[in-house]
Amino acid sequence: YGHPRERRAPRGEDATVHPMKLSVIGVGYLGAVHAATMASVGHDVVAVDSDEGRVAALASGTAPFVEPGFDGLLRQTLDSGRLHFTADYRDVAEAGLHFIAVGTPQRPDSHAADLTHVYAAVGSLLPHIRPGAVVAGKSTVPVGTASDLEGRVVGAGGVLAWNPEFLREGFAVRDTLKPDRIVYGLSADAGRAGVALARLDECYAPMLSACPRLIMDFATAELIKVAANAFLATKISFINAVSQVCDAAGADVTLLAEAIGLDERIGRRFLRAGVGFGGGCLPKDIRALQASADLHGARHLADLLGQVDSINREQRDRIVELARTHVGGDLSGRAITILGAAFKPLSDDVRDSPALDVASRLADLGAEVTVCDPQALPVVARSHPHLTLEDDPRAALKGAELVLLLTEWDQFVALDPAEAATSVAERVIIDGRNALDPVAWREAGWTYAGVGR
Ligand code: NAD
Repeated sequence: YGHPRERRAPRGEDATVHPMKLSVIGVGYLGAVHAATMASVGHDVVAVDSDEGRVAALASGTAPFVEPGFDGLLRQTLDSGRLHFTADYRDVAEAGLHFIAVGTPQRPDSHAADLTHVYAAVGSLLPHIRPGAVVAGKSTVPVGTASDLEGRVVGAGGVLAWNPEFLREGFAVRDTLKPDRIVYGLSADAGRAGVALARLDECYAPMLSACPRLIMDFATAELIKVAANAFLATKISFINAVSQVCDAAGADVTLLAEAIGLDERIGRRFLRAGVGFGGGCLPKDIRALQASADLHGARHLADLLGQVDSINREQRDRIVELARTHVGGDLSGRAITILGAAFKPLSDDVRDSPALDVASRLADLGAEVTVCDPQALPVVARSHPHLTLEDDPRAALKGAELVLLLTEWDQFVALDPAEAATSVAERVIIDGRNALDPVAWREAGWTYAGVGR
């Protein structure tokens, strides 16, 4: 299928939507947003999930997670009649294009990705597809998965493509409507590649008028997604490693990051030192790529990602140690307020959240921990029932002997240090995201500790 550049859709190409019947299998953060967005541009979408509670909630217009702009889009597309949720795979039979968007978490026994859901979803789907239907994987999978799956899809009369997804939680609707790029991993068989290409182009017509579309083999498409996340994770762990030398040498990593980030080859983003990354993607994706690298003998990549992961985990240890130091060495019975529980602002996702990990560890060490978060507390109440939860920051700060900012929600960054000082028992704050103005907090009488500053 030639050089990828030859297949970029020229800007301004006809963006007319020819409505298609699509299915989306797995309606979590990725699949639900993808399903509603595809319905919003005019396609007829059947969205399937094995979790009947989730299906019922979505079908009634209730989003099972927090994602800006999603609630309105969900209700609008349900009302339009173009979006349906079901737990029954038989309902997808008419679709000409099926997206696989089920989870690929880390395996419990290794760093590798657990593909159980992908194989189960494809296995449940294939008996119901019509001849010539295209199955497009969006889930993040280890290199080699698509070529392993292709025979089964072809055996059922279908065509496989891999179409990795790059959306960011917190910006998922925007990223789906206006992606930076669209990647198609296509079969080595030219006939099948052509069918998938045409079907995906038809589906993505409204997006392709404004973004590059890159065409390649399965293996490259699979690797692009994990390589993108590995690069971002490496940037974060790089600046966190630099923050350690800044701490030791009395330098300021925030000024350093600003200065190096002004070089456009480096860029400012993902260079904020702090408690490190978490969430449902970066940690498990770098470990999965590490496992693939090990498998394929790419020793340097495996070593590099091992270091990135270990720097990231150590940042959480650093924050716990900093907390212990700031309460005089013994955490037991100390009143500690954690600002933040979600792994990042604008989300209620607490999967592998650094904030929640630090909160749990401080509680395990005997501290009386109160967690405050504008969105994630209902999720935390289910996963961490032993923590005290408080959604009002002022109430959460009351009587605190130590405060930790661990998710940089706007409402926390905007806290007035003088006003916050009136609630706490001790004016001590650890800024685990380097998001606060140390001068303002110190002027209000606080002991301020950042990361590498
Ligand atoms: P999720 O856990 O939020 O959702 C997965 C959904 O799949 C769940 O609702 C689950 O019930 C459903 N499911 C599992 N097995 C099923 C089956 N056999 N049939 C039907 N439904 C089934 O996961 P997510 O965050 O949406 O991620 C999904 C995939 O997308 C992962 O591979 C992830 O790495 C990738 N991804 C996620 C994001 C993100 O920001 N969350 C971004 C890009 C890529």
